[in-house]
Amino acid sequence: MEMVKDGYNGILHGKYELGRQLGHGTFAKVYLARNLHSGKNAAMKVVGKEKVIKAGMMDQIKREISVMKMVRHPNIVELYEVMASKSKIYFAMELVRGGELFSKIEKGRLREDVARGYFQQLISAVDFCHSRGVYHRDLKPENLLLDEEGNLKVTDFGLSAFSDHLRQDGLLHTTCGTPAYVAPEVIGKKGYVGAKADIWSCGVILYVLLAGFLPFQDDNIVAMYRKIYRGDFRCPPWFSSDARRLITKLLDPNPDCRYTISKIMESSWFKKAAPKNPQFILEDDNVNLKGKETETLNAFHIISLSEGFDLSPLFEEKKREEKQEIRFATTKPAEVVVSKLEAMAKAMKFSVKKNGDGSSLRLQAHEMGRKGKLEIAADIWGVAPSLLVVVEVKKSSGDTLEYNQFCHKELRPALKDIVWTSPADQSPPV
Ligand code: AMP
Repeated sequence: MEMVKDGYNGILHGKYELGRQLGHGTFAKVYLARNLHSGKNAAMKVVGKEKVIKAGMMDQIKREISVMKMVRHPNIVELYEVMASKSKIYFAMELVRGGELFSKIEKGRLREDVARGYFQQLISAVDFCHSRGVYHRDLKPENLLLDEEGNLKVTDFGLSAFSDHLRQDGLLHTTCGTPAYVAPEVIGKKGYVGAKADIWSCGVILYVLLAGFLPFQDDNIVAMYRKIYRGDFRCPPWFSSDARRLITKLLDPNPDCRYTISKIMESSWFKKAAPKNPQFILEDDNVNLKGKETETLNAFHIISLSEGFDLSPLFEEKKREEKQEIRFATTKPAEVVVSKLEAMAKAMKFSVKKNGDGSSLRLQAHEMGRKGKLEIAADIWGVAPSLLVVVEVKKSSGDTLEYNQFCHKELRPALKDIVWTSPADQSPPV
């Protein structure tokens, strides 16, 4: 494998060998990488840390990344792990080898049924993340890749906070030169809803797939903004009436009137079967399209696949220093988690500090330990509003051994009955 020359010694954290550059985006460079333990290839995205810390985005990024590490979807590039050096953050991701979707359009616009296949996959991915409280906010052609079977893979879900910040810096404009995919309310910085902004971008993407050119285009950037604000675009004559109807609802400049994902899924254009070509058959029907039933299956899906929800490593003493966080899911409301933690703290004579909305707790021992007072942070957040609450507990100061004992003797028994185990774990042994 060709080695990276610019500052890397070729081996990262003793685990990944870095190879040639695959591409670069708004805020990162992407390299080919190989996991030295498994021999598997990966894509390694490298981001400068300084920008992120300066912008105070660390918490949000950590939160979104931990959600992304817990989800799997056939149309979302999998995030394997996140590492950091002094100055950089490294994201090891699934390697996607089929290139960008939009290189297909360079050869001409797509047939409507072919575009539908890709759009269905895109909406399936977007819906999956939205239901877990993660928004992309920067959907655009560079983020739509194809695997070797021709399946769409969306990248950068959960990393959007970076690009969001960069946009405020004006950097996005200088790097990409166009706001072509960005919703009017985002440009207007009015404060916007992530879900609606993503749907707008999906609308622009669908338009480009069907037309072969952008809906809002002008050499003059001010004139382009104006068109976006007004939702001023025309559909070419070859668009079917169903496609026209859908695109008009997606590219509605008023986010309140814009279609929601469920409206998209109900639309007659979307509902038509995807082409018979096997490349459009979704890998897992559970993780697709409609309704409550699949939401439950999706939740099961996360649980069965995620390390974070697996109870066995959950309370084991962590072998590696960096693995001191404990993350688990519960179907109980956040208040129940908080009162459990408070009761445990009271019994241990720990002091408790809570933030305003009770989503973050700090527990502190009164007595001095070997390395000062043991302090534990617990963060609680909803992933799918009706379904899951994720709790993350970590040591913020004090001695690791004391913390491990605390986890083993106090935390584990205190939370045992609210941790959600997957149905598979509950089934009797055969
Ligand atoms: P991004 O920063 O995600 O926009 O990525 C920039 C470019 O790097 C993309 O346009 C791709 O060419 C390449 N790239 C990003 N992620 C991957 C991946 N997971 N596998 C292969 N290539 C990638």
